[in-house]
Formats: sequence, C-alpha cells, structure tokens
Amino acid sequence: MKFNPKLSWEFLSADEIAAKTLRALRNHIKHVKEVSPYYKEALWDIAADDIKSMDDFNRLPFTGRISLAEHPAKFITVEPHSVVETVATGGATGKPILCPLTANDLERLAFSQALSFRSTGISAEDRALLLLAMDRWSLAGMGYYRGLLLIGANTGRAGVAAHDLCRQYCESFKPTVLVGAPSFFRRLSVDLGKAGFDFKESGIKRIICAGESLKNQNMEMNALGKRLQETWGAKVFVTYTITELADSFCECVEQKGGHTHPELVYPEIVDENGRLLPDGTPGELVATSFGVEGLPLVRYRTGDITFKVPGDACACGRNSVRIGPILGRTSELIRTRGASVYPLTIMNALDEMDEISDYVIILENDDAHTDRVSIHVAAKPALVEKIANHVRTAARISFPILISNISTIQSMRGNWRKQVRIVDWRQQTPRR
Ligand SMILES: [Zn+2]
Repeated sequence: MKFNPKLSWEFLSADEIAAKTLRALRNHIKHVKEVSPYYKEALWDIAADDIKSMDDFNRLPFTGRISLAEHPAKFITVEPHSVVETVATGGATGKPILCPLTANDLERLAFSQALSFRSTGISAEDRALLLLAMDRWSLAGMGYYRGLLLIGANTGRAGVAAHDLCRQYCESFKPTVLVGAPSFFRRLSVDLGKAGFDFKESGIKRIICAGESLKNQNMEMNALGKRLQETWGAKVFVTYTITELADSFCECVEQKGGHTHPELVYPEIVDENGRLLPDGTPGELVATSFGVEGLPLVRYRTGDITFKVPGDACACGRNSVRIGPILGRTSELIRTRGASVYPLTIMNALDEMDEISDYVIILENDDAHTDRVSIHVAAKPALVEKIANHVRTAARISFPILISNISTIQSMRGNWRKQVRIVDWRQQTPRR
C-alpha cells in the first residue's frame, strides 16, 4: 500500500468538508442498517434518505459504551474469516471490549496515523523509536507503527524499555522521533539526566506523547510538557487514540488542538443530556466512524470530556475539526462540596511537582452528592503540606494527600494497560 494523503479531505474548504460529511453520514447509516444486527434494531424507524441535514443526523440515537460492552456480537458486521486482528479496550462494565479488525481496517488505521504523523512534520527522512507497548491487545501502539511504516520512516520498536537500554538505542539508532507515554518520558528524562545523557546533541526533534494529556483547558502546555521540551530541546506533540473508532486525533505543527480526520470520523460534543454544545464548551466526545468494516459505530459516546477548538481554519491549512485536550472521563468528574472538578486539574498540579515520583487518585462514594477523593503520592513525608497547598490552589478545593511508595501505588492501579492515574471505586449508574 502506498500512502496517498490526497485521499484525505483535511485541506478542502469547510463547506466542501460539510457537504462530503453529510453524504458520508447518509451512506454510513444505509450501510450499518444493512449489515449490523445492533443498528438494524436501533435505527429500524429511520431511513438513510431521511437524513437531509446535520440536524436530521443529530436526532439519531446515541450508542453507549455499555451497549457495546454487553452485546459486542450485535455490533460485529463481518464474517469471522475476514477478521485479521483483534484489539481490546477497557470496558465500561469492567470486561474488555474486543474490537475485530479486517485487512482494510488495518489499512484505514495506518492511513489515519500516517496523516497524523505527517501533520507533525514527520517524513520518510525520519527515524522513529516507539517506546510503548505493542502487545496487550493495544490498537494505539500497533497503529503508530503502521502509520510510520506507511510514511516510510525508519521505525524501531523498543517497547517500554529499561532506561539504560533507551539510552543505548538513542545512541546507536539515533532516532529523530520518539513515541511514548508522557509519564514514561518524565521518568526517562530524570534517569538519563542523572546518567549525563546529552539531550541537546541527541538529534531528537519530535516527541509524540500518547495516551495522557499535556495541555490544560486553555490549551497551554502543562509543566510536564514544558519540561520535556526544555530537557530534550524537541517539539512535544500530543496524540489521542480511541480504540473503538480505530482513529486518533493528533496535533499538527501549529499545536492548537488535535486534528480529526473528516473522511474517517465525525465528532460531536454533547452535554449530559445529549444536547450539542457550542465550540469551546467542554462536554462528552461523541463520534461516528466511517469506513470501519469490523465494528462500525454511529454516535458513539466515548466517555471522554473535551471540546471543539473554536475559531477559523488552522494556520497549517487544514480545515478539519480540532478537539482540545482530554479533560477527563465523564465517569470521573469529581463532585465534592457543591463543586465539580475535572481530574485533569488535579493531575496537572501533581505533574508540576518534581518531588512527586508517582501518584494515584482514588475516588469513592461518600454520600449521594459527594465523592471522597484521596491522593496517594510517592514523595517525602515532609512534603505533604506543600503538595496539599499546591493542589488546593489549582483545584480551589482541598483534598487529603497520603504519602505512599511507588510499589503500593502500582498495586492500587490493577493490571490494565495504561498508566492509570485515577482509580474509581464509586458506584455508578451505567448509561446504555
Ligand atoms: Zn493544524
């Protein structure tokens, strides 16, 4: 397969993208009603030709994470022999959601990731080192790998390697691009700094940070992002992948939000009651994926809180919708003493403190209207007050800080793939 970025709509005018999107949505509805047992039932009273405007589309029912987790077979639209890879994501019911991918789905994923990386300036001249999990059912790591191959970059898969090995890889492979989780780069930077690694001479120009947000609600880089840029003398980009959509949203060279791929996904932002929100207002990301064969979805409630970046086209020339940083999960919104706090606010405050080696935030029910929050940090006991003050200043609410150690914090996380920073033990009313 040859990478053909001209297949993307991202440089078309906003009007052209809107017209193509409406046609794609109509075709998508026609398709899923024919092939998907779930949508045959859920959209039984809707004809694709009735969708004459975006308003018509916005009246279609949502697809909840619970429905997908409980009835995965109803969503699968291909014969078992067409599936060439299965990936998984943490399920809303505690069970992982398995997502089947066909050969075409893998090509679509590679195309999506190649577009994303290309928008950061990565080319066939680059050498990219992947420092994240390629196993454990991960779509993201596999997608980054395929996208880099499609661009033609010389790509090495190191995995979550020991820090002394990372140093050796940097010195021998001489990567120009690193891809991994921000928390991994944070610890790697500290260890390599202690070992006298010459960051500025390393030749690394770009660090692609996956899976964790590095921006605040004002789209400013947080302390960790700034520190990574300063330490490595490289540009730090944020990318965010949704397994169920087999797509990602990545910052371009302008770094003003993650570009969506209009030919692959249609994004919406809605409030708790499912009403569309204006650009700039945070709410839940809802997305419809185009061209997915294994697991096509309509108005899928991702559970992630973000917003559409307001304003005109991006200075990079792309007219695709951009979304802001992921501020948290809908299920994670903390309600305490009459106020609501996005978990990202607390995480950004903790990330700013070099003295904290690791942390986890535990959420529990207190009573019907209040959540109990405890923040476990790996830090010196003498720092409790300093950390508590810092978090209070950022969140405008005080939370208890409990001193712990790295291994205890690790054991609180459970065993899912991501570096979990929030553990939610609250009883929830699931949304279907
Ligand atoms: Zn841009």
